[in-house]
Amino acid sequence: MGPFVFTGLPARVIFGPGRLAELGAEADRLGMRRPLILTGKQQAPLGRDAAKLISGATTFDGAVMHTPVTVTETAMRIVRERGVDGTIAIGGGSAVGLGKAIAWRTNCPQIAVPTTYAGSEMTPILGETADGAKTTRRDTKIQPETVIYDPELTLGLPVPLSVTSGMNAIAHSVEALYAKDGNPVISMMAEEGIRALAGALPRLSDARTEALYGAWLCGTVLGATGMALHHKLCHVLGGSFDLPHAETHTVVLPHAVAYNAGAAPEAMARIARALGARSAASGLFDLERALGAPLTLRGIGMREEDLDRAADLAVASPYWNPAPITRDGIRKLLNDAFHGRRPEG
Ligand code: NAD
Repeated sequence: MGPFVFTGLPARVIFGPGRLAELGAEADRLGMRRPLILTGKQQAPLGRDAAKLISGATTFDGAVMHTPVTVTETAMRIVRERGVDGTIAIGGGSAVGLGKAIAWRTNCPQIAVPTTYAGSEMTPILGETADGAKTTRRDTKIQPETVIYDPELTLGLPVPLSVTSGMNAIAHSVEALYAKDGNPVISMMAEEGIRALAGALPRLSDARTEALYGAWLCGTVLGATGMALHHKLCHVLGGSFDLPHAETHTVVLPHAVAYNAGAAPEAMARIARALGARSAASGLFDLERALGAPLTLRGIGMREEDLDRAADLAVASPYWNPAPITRDGIRKLLNDAFHGRRPEG
C-alpha cells in the first residue's frame, strides 16, 4: 500500500424504504422555511406530494438533462420572488443538478432525493451548459447537505433505464479503483458498490434496496476521486455528439476497462472479484449483454463518420489515465465500442 490522502466529504445520508416521510423533519433541521422542490416534468407529481409534507414549500418542475443555465435562471427568479431558503431535488441527476446550480448561486442548503443511480447527489461537482458548451466546477457548497435514499421511489424506474443508470454508477467505481488520487477506503467502497449493483441489476424486482445502496457507494467514490479515460470519452460523446448519458457510459465502459487493463492490474482484479467474473472488461461486457443493455455506439446514435473527430477530441485534453493515451489506441477503442465487440480476456 502506498501513501495516500483521504478527505471525507460531509453529507448526511438517510437510507431505507419509506424514509421520504422524514423529508419535513429534515427540511426543518436544515432551517428551511420556504424550500423550493425541484423535479423534472415526469417527477412533478412526486414533487407535489412531497410539498404536502412541508408547509411553505413551492414546486418547480423544469429540471432537464445537463443543467442548462437558462433553466437555472428561471428557477432563480422563483428563488428571489419567494425568498426561497433551501432546495429539495427529487429525481435523477437532472433534478439534483438544478439544486446544485441554485446552491452554487445562493449557498442555500440542499436536500437531494435521488430516484436513479447516477450518483450526482454525493458529489461537490456541478456541470452546467450554456450556449452548447458544458463547464464543470467543484466546490463544497455544491454538495447536498442531506441525501434521502428511499428505494420505494425507484420502483417505477423502468428496467432498461435502471440497467443503464446502474452501469453509469458502476463506471464511477471502476475508475475510482484506478484513480491517481484513490485510497484504500475509497477502493473498499468502490468494490462494494460494484458488487452490490452487479448483484442487484439482474433481479431488480426484489433488489431495489441493494441497487440503491450500490448507487450511494458509487456516487461517494465519484465525489472523492478524479475520473479517467472512461469519463473523458463519455463527456466527449455526450457533449459533442449528443449521445444519451447513461447509455453512453454503458457502451463505453468495457472498452475503457480493456484499454486500461494492463496498466491497472490490481484494480482489474478487484473489479473482476466484485463481478464474480474471470476478467474485468469481459465480465462487464457479459453482465451488460445478460441484462439486455445497449452494447454498440451505433445503436445509441453515433455515426461512424464521426469516430475520427471523437478520437481527436478525446486526445486533445485528456484526463489523467493509468494507461498512456494514444490517438491510435483511442480510435481502436471507439471502433470496438461502435461495433460492440466483446473485449478479450
Ligand atoms: P435524469 O435525471 O435526466 O433521468 C433520466 C430519466 O429518468 C428522466 O426521463 C426522468 O424523468 C426519469 N426518471 C428518473 N427517476 C425515475 C423514476 N424513479 N421512475 C421513472 N422515471 C424516472 O438522468 P440521470 O441519468 O439520473 O442523470 C444524468 C444527469 O446527471 C446528466 O446531466 C449528468 O451530467 C448528471 N450527473 C452529474 C453528476 C455530478 O457529479 N455532477 C454525476 C452523475 C450524473
